[in-house]
Amino acid sequence: RKFVFVTGGVMSGLGKGITAASTGRLLANAGFDVTAVKVDPYLNVDAGTMNPYEHGEVYVLKDGGEVDLDLGNYERFLGTDMTFDHNVTTGKTYEHVIERERAGDYLGKTVQIIPHVTDDIKRRIREAAEGSDVCLVEIGGTVGDIESMPFLEALRQFSHEEDPEDILFTHVTLVPYSKNGEQKTKPTQHSVKELRSIGLQPDVLVGRCAERLDPDVKEKIALFCDVPTDAVFSNPDVEDIYHVPLSVEDEGLDEYVMERLGLTDEALPREQR
Ligand code: ADP
Repeated sequence: RKFVFVTGGVMSGLGKGITAASTGRLLANAGFDVTAVKVDPYLNVDAGTMNPYEHGEVYVLKDGGEVDLDLGNYERFLGTDMTFDHNVTTGKTYEHVIERERAGDYLGKTVQIIPHVTDDIKRRIREAAEGSDVCLVEIGGTVGDIESMPFLEALRQFSHEEDPEDILFTHVTLVPYSKNGEQKTKPTQHSVKELRSIGLQPDVLVGRCAERLDPDVKEKIALFCDVPTDAVFSNPDVEDIYHVPLSVEDEGLDEYVMERLGLTDEALPREQR
């Protein structure tokens, strides 16, 4: 089974979820069974108690799970039903670990974030991925947030436990324009540096920008962030978010991801997608 981990840099509300869902749509078009896990690093157990004015309306799944709106994007983009287990929150994880501690399951050990919380996170991701060929795992929030640290640490461990060919890290960042109309790469450089400081090296970088990234901007990002130039993609503003899969397909994001995950031979030929 393959895992695509999607992190975000610079700021939230960038389009990380849409980028992840679009990657999933393209892999589904190529004939793979794709599912998704949304990680929300808040302490709420679920989104059911969250103020809709602050957080957007709660999305209710078929199994009654009250979750983040992003799960709705995944259901619509992937055309599959999600379950409550496809939303992992800090609250859910801690609640379970503390219940186990009270029950004596840890046999007197000191219960810690590493390994007990990180093990629980990895277990949840693996269970939610069961039955799929590819599981997208989107980490909510921005790299560098205190809240997301245990999740990023869990992904770091995860990447060592699986075959390197089965794991791909995609990092979505912002490429703003300066006043004189240049695309600026510094925010991307800083957020990749932040990611690397916790032991994660992205395989694919997606720059959210008003327009497509210039080739020399891609080259600069590649050089500073230590990825090949053809691993840098644009996700420009579009009028309708359902155009994002086609927009990233135009730059070959799907081909790159499949190649990197060793899925090319099993993929449907392009004309049948
Ligand atoms: P994040 O996961 O980074 O918080 P989302 O994927 O939820 O961000 O997207 C945030 C907002 O940006 C949404 O309202 C979405 O519709 C919009 N958005 C995402 N990608 C694009 C794009 N390429 N063009 C225009 N709007 C976009």
